Amino acid sequence: MKVLVPVKRVVDYNVKVRVKSDQSGVDIANVKMSMNPFDEIAVEEAVRLKEKGVATEVIAVSCGVAQCQETLRTAMAIGADRAILVQTDEELQPLAVAKILKALVDKEQPGLVILGKQAIDDDCNQTGQMLAALADLPQATFASKVEVADGKAKVTREVDGGLETLEVTLPAVITTDLRLNEPRYVTLPNIMKAKKKQLDTVKPEDLGVDVKPRLKTLKVTEPPKRGAGVKVPDVATLVQKLKTEAKVI
Ligand code: AMP
Repeated sequence: MKVLVPVKRVVDYNVKVRVKSDQSGVDIANVKMSMNPFDEIAVEEAVRLKEKGVATEVIAVSCGVAQCQETLRTAMAIGADRAILVQTDEELQPLAVAKILKALVDKEQPGLVILGKQAIDDDCNQTGQMLAALADLPQATFASKVEVADGKAKVTREVDGGLETLEVTLPAVITTDLRLNEPRYVTLPNIMKAKKKQLDTVKPEDLGVDVKPRLKTLKVTEPPKRGAGVKVPDVATLVQKLKTEAKVI
């Protein structure tokens, strides 16, 4: 069984992003970029399935600019067998990525597609769900545990107030939650090995996909600045301020 793992190149989670002065987006010039953390978890899960003998091949896919190659090399250093870069300089929205992934699902026929539950740059949380709809596949989102056997995947999901366990028939789409696993540390020998693995580059047009944006960002603004704190002399004043000023009690 092949496992397809889409990985997005995003601003590193440690970077404090700055909004551009024209409010059109955030400034990503000269900013450290990394693999979306939920996608690292997805690659780790796919590689574990291969190590258990459940999966036969793990294919990482990234859609975007040429530098996404670095993200794909990281995926292969974790253990993906080969990679596909769908290269474009266009802005890619979740529907466009889902259409690209649908075309790759048709071509590669994976038994499982494991995506991150959301990309930490745009926080869309849409691509996996859209892919499942376009490819007409069952989906289990926000997985905190995945067990694959007999052509089925048992997926535990973290829902409000507890856990829900679903069973989906393969092929299926799964999206990862934070507690699914802890991705392994990428070692230098594995980084070197990853450089020799196969990385194919295609264009969205080669897959017959129109990636034209459907949504327009009107503006992006910084969150309001936090005001300075005050020291209160006693509990009574604190309670009174929480009631009358903060209005939280
Ligand atoms: P989103 O719907 O944008 O929050 O993204 C959810 C997941 O879809 C991510 O965690 C990735 O697994 C996948 N994804 C989104 N955008 C891309 C992209 N440009 N290239 C590869 N995978 C992507």
